[in-house]
Amino acid sequence: MANAVKRIGVLTSGGDAPGMNAAIRSVVRACTYMGIECVGIRRGYNGLINGDFTVLQNDNVAHIINRGGTILYTARSDEFRTLEGQKKAAATCKLLGLDGIVSIGGDGSFRGLVELAKQGISVVGVPATIDNDIVCTGYTIGYDTAANTAVEAIDRLRDTMQSHERCSVVEVMGRNAGHLALYVGLATGATAVLVPEKPVDFDRDVIDRIRQARLAGNTHFMIIVAEGAGSAIEIGKGIHEELGLDPRVTILGHIQRGGTPSARDRVMASRMGYHAVQDAGRRQDEPRHLRTGRSDGRHRYHRGPFHEEGAQRAAVRGAAGDDGHRQLNPDKKIGACCTAARPFSIPEQLFRHLPFPSLS
Ligand code: ATP
Repeated sequence: MANAVKRIGVLTSGGDAPGMNAAIRSVVRACTYMGIECVGIRRGYNGLINGDFTVLQNDNVAHIINRGGTILYTARSDEFRTLEGQKKAAATCKLLGLDGIVSIGGDGSFRGLVELAKQGISVVGVPATIDNDIVCTGYTIGYDTAANTAVEAIDRLRDTMQSHERCSVVEVMGRNAGHLALYVGLATGATAVLVPEKPVDFDRDVIDRIRQARLAGNTHFMIIVAEGAGSAIEIGKGIHEELGLDPRVTILGHIQRGGTPSARDRVMASRMGYHAVQDAGRRQDEPRHLRTGRSDGRHRYHRGPFHEEGAQRAAVRGAAGDDGHRQLNPDKKIGACCTAARPFSIPEQLFRHLPFPSLS
C-alpha cells in the first residue's frame, strides 16, 4: 500500500465494552505493520480537546487482548458536543500531526466523529458497545461478552428462584435498544422479555404470561426487562399487586460491561482494528470519512461517507435485512453511520424466534 499516512490517533469513547483493549491492540499492531506511528488519546474526546495522549508501540499493548475495560480510559465529553470543543479537538489533531483518528465506541462516539470530520479530520469508527445499537453494523464489539455475562448471572438466579418457587425480574442493559435483553431472554428461556422497541402492555405482556406459565405447570418465572423498556422495580411491584407473588428484582447494571472479552469479541476487535487502520491509510483515494463493521454473519467491512442519507439507508436496512441494504446500495460503496438520533429498530425476523405471542 502506498502509504501517505504517517501518524494516526486512536481513542475509546462512551461506555466501555469488553474487547476495546483487543481493538486498541489491533490498531497499534496494524500500524506497526504498515509503518504508521500510533498515538493513543486518553479519556475519549476529552483527551483530544486537552491534548492527553501517549505514543503507543507494540510493547504497550502486550497482554491486553484478554483484558476488559480500556487501557486508554474512556469518557463522555460534554465539551466535545459544542462547536468550540470540536474545533479544539481538531486543533489538537493538527498540532500532533495526526493524519486520522480511529474512534472505538458506540453510536454517540460515531456522531462525534461526524462532527470532527466536519473540521477536516479523517476519521474511522470502530463499533464497540454492549448495546449493539449502531444501525450501520451488524455487530458491535462487547455485545457477545455482555450477553454471556448476563446469561451466566441469570442462570445463577434461576437456581435460587427455582428452589424457592419465586418470580424474578431482571433488568438488562442496552440503553434505548432491546437487542441485549431479547438475546439474553431467548438464551435463558425467560417467561417474558420487555424491550423498548415494542410498547409494553403490562397485563398482556407480563401478568398473562405468568398466568399462562403457571397453568403450564411452572413454579418459577423469569421476566427480563431491557433498561429502556421501563423500571424493573415498578414491574416487580406490579406483579406483587396483581398476582400476590413476591418477586425478586435484580438490576445487573455495570457488571455486564466488565470482564474478560469472549473469543468472538477478541476476534471481531482484532479484525476491525486492522481494517480501521487500512481504511485510515486509504484516505487520500477514498471517501474521507470511513467506518468499519460487520454485516450479518459474514465478515464484510464497508467504507464510505458518514452522512444523513447513509443513516437513513441503514435504518431501512435494519428493517429490511441485508438484502435491503444491497438493493439500496447497489454499488456497495456507500457506507453508513449512525449520524441521526433515530432509535435502533430490532429486525422483525428476530421477533419471529420468540415463543411469546405478544412479541411476534
Ligand atoms: P455507549 O452507548 O456504549 O455508552 P456511546 O459512544 O454511544 O457509547 P455516548 O455517551 O452517547 O456513548 O457518546 C460518547 C461521546 O460522543 C459523548 O460524550 C460526546 O462527547 C460525543 N457525542 C455524542 N453525540 C454527539 C453529537 N451529536 N455531537 C458531537 N459529539 C457527540
